[in-house]
Amino acid sequence: MKILVTGGVGYIGSHTCCELLANNYEVVIIDNLSNSSIDVVAKIEKITGKKVTFYEGDVCKKEILSKIFKQEKIDAVIHFAGYKAVGESVEKPLMYYRNNIDSTLSLLEVMKEYNCKKIVFSSSATVYGNPETLPITEDFPLHTTNPYGTTKLMIEQILADLYKADNNWSIAILRYFNPIGAHKSGIIGENPNGIPNNLMPYIVKVATKELKELNIFGNDYNTKDGTGIRDYIHVIDLAQGHIKAIEKITKEKGIDTYNLGTGNGYSVLDLVNTFKMVNHVDIPYKIVERRKGDIAICYASTKKAEKLLNWTAKLTLEDMCRDSYNYAIKNRKDK
Ligand code: NAD
Ligand code: UDP
Repeated sequence: MKILVTGGVGYIGSHTCCELLANNYEVVIIDNLSNSSIDVVAKIEKITGKKVTFYEGDVCKKEILSKIFKQEKIDAVIHFAGYKAVGESVEKPLMYYRNNIDSTLSLLEVMKEYNCKKIVFSSSATVYGNPETLPITEDFPLHTTNPYGTTKLMIEQILADLYKADNNWSIAILRYFNPIGAHKSGIIGENPNGIPNNLMPYIVKVATKELKELNIFGNDYNTKDGTGIRDYIHVIDLAQGHIKAIEKITKEKGIDTYNLGTGNGYSVLDLVNTFKMVNHVDIPYKIVERRKGDIAICYASTKKAEKLLNWTAKLTLEDMCRDSYNYAIKNRKDK
């Protein structure tokens, strides 16, 4: 089976490509490298010992998509391509709506034209806003607080309307919680440009002494140690969730939404302490003001994915901390 992976050179996409190849899928990637580097294509091939077909191009542009669908016999698509920085989306909403919505519409139109009607879409737990109770199940009310989240919600709606109009589609919407970690080999991982916004990449840069100390955004939340709680999931577990979603949409038509998380909530201090313990490094930190827009606690109910996708996350917080650091160290040595 041949899978088109949009944004396949990025963080989650590259790990998913490795899992797809390991499971004997053929992989075709389209990526415009706006947030990734071409070297990753060779790295995926190095890890797996298999070839991928790479097209450099913009998923908003139907011409290149048509060319791909004409040349390759694509059976299903995993759609990762998009912008993902919450803060940037508040400052540049039009850029976010243009890229995330346009790319999806172009992709769906071309898929329809070539009668390829199987798609897995990367959504996010951000669509739940500030949940009233926990754990979060897929039927919770949806509410977004920034343009990035709204693009995800809009795309979910587009997919729902598309299925309503044509029941031949098979659609899996995956709502990711907090992906961290890296491939065990240390060859691929998360590599944000500039000063990271997210917790794990920031901790890694403090560990490697590229940044002086971590700012912990508030210790006065109503949580066990006052710091924010999230459901961190290893990117390899997440990647494997995509394989299960592909299996599901290949078997049956329909549209469904699944949380991909571990179901466990860890605080900022849990992550800092685990990282220090497994990697034997110091992570100096100071407590600062809460970050605007942050919620106190967010973790998934994973029952639906367990039952319908036959998938559960297996890797631990220790694995996530070890693999994130291992990737950072290896990458520094490579430079
Ligand atoms: P990433 O930025 O590492 O990967 C996205 C890739 O898409 C990049 O390689 C980028 O170059 C490419 N891209 C962007 N716009 C494109 C376009 N118009 N045409 C072609 N390529 C384009 O991000 P990621 O962390 O791997 O996230 C993948 C998907 O998962 C995104 O849709 C993101 O919103 C979603 N998601 C990510 C997280 C997270 O914490 N990383 C959480 C929830 C959802
Ligand atoms: N966080 C922090 N310092 C940072 C980055 C994040 O204390 O430099 C906290 C943040 O307040 C939240 C948790 O870490 O409680 C996870 O934040 P991240 O941005 O990684 O994920 P999100 O908030 O989008 O779920």
